[in-house]
Amino acid sequence: MNILVINCGSSSLKYQLINSDTEAVLAKGLCERIGIEGSQITYQPADGEKEVNVSPMPTHTQAIKLVLDALTNAKTGVIASLAEVGAVGHRVVHGGEKFTSSTLLTEEAIAAIEECNDLAPLHNPANLIGIRACQELMPNVPMVAVFDTAFHQTMPEEAYLYGLPYEYYENYKVRRYGFHGTSHSFVSKRAAEVAGKPYEDLKIIVCHLGNGASLSAVKNGKSVDTSMGLTPLEGLIMGTRSGDMDPAIMEYIAKKENLDIAGVMNVLNKKSGVLGLSGVSSDFRDLEEAANAGNARAEKALKAYNYRVVKYIGAYAAAMDGVDVIAFTAGLGENGKTTRKAICEHLTYLGIKIDDEANSVRGKDIVISTPDSKVQVMVIPTNEELAIARETLALV
Ligand code: AMP
Repeated sequence: MNILVINCGSSSLKYQLINSDTEAVLAKGLCERIGIEGSQITYQPADGEKEVNVSPMPTHTQAIKLVLDALTNAKTGVIASLAEVGAVGHRVVHGGEKFTSSTLLTEEAIAAIEECNDLAPLHNPANLIGIRACQELMPNVPMVAVFDTAFHQTMPEEAYLYGLPYEYYENYKVRRYGFHGTSHSFVSKRAAEVAGKPYEDLKIIVCHLGNGASLSAVKNGKSVDTSMGLTPLEGLIMGTRSGDMDPAIMEYIAKKENLDIAGVMNVLNKKSGVLGLSGVSSDFRDLEEAANAGNARAEKALKAYNYRVVKYIGAYAAAMDGVDVIAFTAGLGENGKTTRKAICEHLTYLGIKIDDEANSVRGKDIVISTPDSKVQVMVIPTNEELAIARETLALV
C-alpha cells in the first residue's frame, strides 16, 4: 500500500509518499509560504530530478491539491491516480492526555484533537487544517493521526507533575507532555535491535539533537521521562529556545527590556538558545566554524549546550537506576561528531568509551562506543515519516 505522510504547519507542508511493503520513499517534498505571496512547491520523485515550482497556494487545500497533482503527473508522477494512495498519515503535535497512541481519524477523534488546540495553539490548528484538506480531496481514504506527545504518555506522575498548585493540572491540564515522541519511539526501538536485546529489557537514553532538541529516558520499552514539557520550550538549550531557566527571569527581563509576556516568550522561543548565546547562528555548522575560528561566544554556546545534555543524561541514568544504551539522533545528533565526542567525554563515570573511527561514520545505524564500554553508545538516524507510515499501516 502507498501511504501519504503529511506534516502540516501553519504556512508550510512537508509530504512523503511511502510504499509500506518496501518502505521505499516514492516521492517527497515541501510546500512553502502557504497563504502568503510567493508560495512554492518542491517535488522530488525517488528516481527523478527535484522540481521547484512557484504556484499560488491561498489555502492548505490548494497546497495539498498541488501535491496530489505532482504525485499523479503523467510525466514525473510516481502513481497513475489517487486510487493508488491507500491511506494518509498525519503528524499531529499535541494529543494531550487523550491520546496515548496513534488514532484513526474519525469525526470523534478530530473533535478530541480540537480540544487539545489550547495546548499547542500554533501547531494543532495547522495540523487539523491539513487533515480537513485531505478529507476534502480524498474523502474515501482512511487517515491516521500520529502524535508527538503520545509516546511519552507512559511517564509516571512524579515525572510529569510540575511543582505548581495541583488545581492547575486538574483544571487546565498543566503538566509535562514531551514532544518528538515519534522519533524517540522509532530510535529507541531501533537501538534495541542494534543492541540485539529485547526492547523490554533495556534502559535507553535517546538524545534527539536537532533544531528542536529533547532527551528521553526509555525504560523497558516505555518513556519514563523526557526533557520537553507542557510546550517544547523546556529542557535542553536548543537552536533558538532557552530550555530550562529560572521562571523569575521572565519578570526581570520584561522590566529591563520593557516587554510584555508575548515579547518575553518571543525572546525565549526565537532569540535564545545557541543563537542568543553566540550571536552567530542557530546552526551548529556555523557555530563550530565560528568557534574554530576563535569566536569566544560561539565556543561558550557550544559548551553550554553540551553541558545541558550531559546533565540530562546524568538525570536520566539516575531516573532509570542505570543505562544500557545512549542513542544520538536528528540533525546534530547524527552529524555532529565533535558534539557527540564532547558530550561522551563527560560520561567516563558511566564507563563510556568512544571509538573515534566509528564516531566519524555518517548516515547509518552504528555503535560508536568501544566493545569494552559499559554503556553502548549509538548513532541511529531518525525517520519520523517512516514511523508515521508504519503507525498508519498498523491502524488501517
Ligand atoms: P534537524 O532539526 O533534525 O533537521 O537538525 C537541524 C540541525 O542539525 C541544524 O540546525 C544543524 O545545526 C545540525 N546539523 C546538520 N548537519 C550538521 C553537521 N554536519 N554538523 C553539525 N551539525 C549539523
